[in-house]
Amino acid sequence: MIVEDDATTADLIAELVEQEGFTVSRAGGGLQAVEAFTRDHPVAVFLDWVLPDIPGTEACRSLRALDGIVPIIFVSGRDDEASTIRGLDAGADDYVAKPVRIRELIARLEAHIRKVATLTERQAAEPAGEQERMRRFGDVEVDLAARLVSVDGQPLNLAPLEFSLLEYLARNAGVAVSRDQIMREVYGFAAEISTERVDQLVRRLRTKLGDGPKRGGVLVAVPGYGYRLEQGSPQPAMAYVITQPCVSIKDASCVEVCPVDCIHSDDAADMYFIDPDECIDCGACVDPCPVDAIFPEDEVPEEWRNFIQINADYFKK
Ligand code: SF4
Ligand code: SF4
Repeated sequence: MIVEDDATTADLIAELVEQEGFTVSRAGGGLQAVEAFTRDHPVAVFLDWVLPDIPGTEACRSLRALDGIVPIIFVSGRDDEASTIRGLDAGADDYVAKPVRIRELIARLEAHIRKVATLTERQAAEPAGEQERMRRFGDVEVDLAARLVSVDGQPLNLAPLEFSLLEYLARNAGVAVSRDQIMREVYGFAAEISTERVDQLVRRLRTKLGDGPKRGGVLVAVPGYGYRLEQGSPQPAMAYVITQPCVSIKDASCVEVCPVDCIHSDDAADMYFIDPDECIDCGACVDPCPVDAIFPEDEVPEEWRNFIQINADYFKK
């Protein structure tokens, strides 16, 4: 499957991959890719870094959650080390920078497919576990049958609706569920309620779980879509930082696209700040900024590194 919104690039890769005997399906965005993936069960995925709807890394996490072994290869316009690391951290098996050397790309694809075939052959059939009722997400443990929750071994009281949300997310762990699905499945009726009600419920649950992106949150927002409960022990999200060029421009383009409302205006400083405890590392705010003021924490240019501390101090007030 080729996930790419640029038709010319997609055509080029598709033509050459088809010459090697593969059948190619396509998706023009991340959400379409997730949908097509469950329908088409591709043997491998070429994934663009920049997609029109959600970041490529987010699409990669969702695809990886759906299938733990299918090869995912980023085909990206960025050739820097930090992007490569972020792509692999998101669950990709490989990262190839554009312009691609097509023979090398095909060779990598075939090598990954061979590896998966070998792994699959070796994999012993796993007995269905009695662990079906117990689910663990980071330090959160859920007993679905007894409707009990504990965090770090300490029992937790959840309201019925909060438990229903957690149960629904737990039964779909690793998969992005939309706000509409939550409304339907958790509230239990086609209610005329706003998606804000879902966000409020998620916030309450997160607070009770003591969950948050900065400490490696298990309940994460999927930009423009909904939420996902992470499997295993997720890594803390990296915060983005707004720097000097924002001063006086303040056009709020970043605020409009942030899926978790973590960008705050500060009139005294005449700029915006990103709450490092809430930022989910989605990168959606970077491209809309007209003055290139926003960077991941570890990529802030040397001359503006003091903004990391200024930003953090602002939220300690
Ligand atoms: S501040 Fe930027 S990177 Fe952080 S959650 Fe908001 S849009 Fe995503
Ligand atoms: S988009 Fe850029 S300039 Fe506009 S408020 Fe955000 S950081 Fe400042």
